[in-house]
Amino acid sequence: MNPFDLGGRTAVVTGANTGLGQSIALALAEAGATIVAVGRSAMDETRAGVEAAGVSFHEIRADLSTTEPLKGIVEETILTCGALDILVNNAGIIRRADAVDFTEEDWDAVIDTNLKSAFFLSQAAGKHMLERGRGKIINIASLLSFQGGIRIPSYTASKSGLAGLTRLLACEWAARGVNVNAIAPGYFVTNNTQALREDPDRSAAILSRIPAGRWGQPSDIGGAAVFLASSASDYVHGIVLAVDGGWLAR
Ligand code: NAP
Repeated sequence: MNPFDLGGRTAVVTGANTGLGQSIALALAEAGATIVAVGRSAMDETRAGVEAAGVSFHEIRADLSTTEPLKGIVEETILTCGALDILVNNAGIIRRADAVDFTEEDWDAVIDTNLKSAFFLSQAAGKHMLERGRGKIINIASLLSFQGGIRIPSYTASKSGLAGLTRLLACEWAARGVNVNAIAPGYFVTNNTQALREDPDRSAAILSRIPAGRWGQPSDIGGAAVFLASSASDYVHGIVLAVDGGWLAR
């Protein structure tokens, strides 16, 4: 028995067309999981990688800025794949402006996608998981689940909130066979950090405090997701696992 084997499991990954979500989908597929990729953009690249790993790929087009599609995502997954074993709440956005200038629109957009949809998708998936007495939910948090940051007030609020929700859901569901945990990526090379990487001063400052001496590549994230999705983590509840090149250790 390989405790990291995900054969026969179905994983829903939101925002799986690119970046960390794509890498997580590929890692879960390589561990044997059927992948249901949820998002608003074409996912052909992810499909190709998942199918190359020898497992099934299903795509659900949905805009996660509202709660409207969430129950349907869970229903369609169960209808198509028979069950929903693993949910990765990865889709997320960031808006940058000084706190004094920050708009209500930028507040709502980030909170709605990063926090509200993540909670209500967890609720919809959680109902199914609790009925079966098993399931794994992985929230993609951030270093801003621990730290304040600058110029990203709604993002910090959303990711700090997501860490809190991870703990709350773990407390409610741990005894009922459902593991809820989070991964806090450090600074990774994706669309999310493009503006930071294009700013030479911020980019150098960030790099200088990463003990590993480099930014994360999307392929650095998958191992943590496989761990938290697999039976290897059956007694792990409510943690926020940093995958950050040592940033928080500094
Ligand atoms: P990314 O490349 O910008 O990916 C974000 C993903 O979320 C994309 O698939 C995007 O789809 C999807 N998404 C955004 N809004 C959506 C909506 N309304 N409906 C459906 N899908 C939506 O950035 P990433 O770095 O991979 O981000 C993935 C997660 O990691 C996010 O939660 C982010 O906050 C978190 N994170 C990233 C870092 C980092 O350093 N990169 C660090 C900490 C945490 P589209 O392509 O269609 O927009």
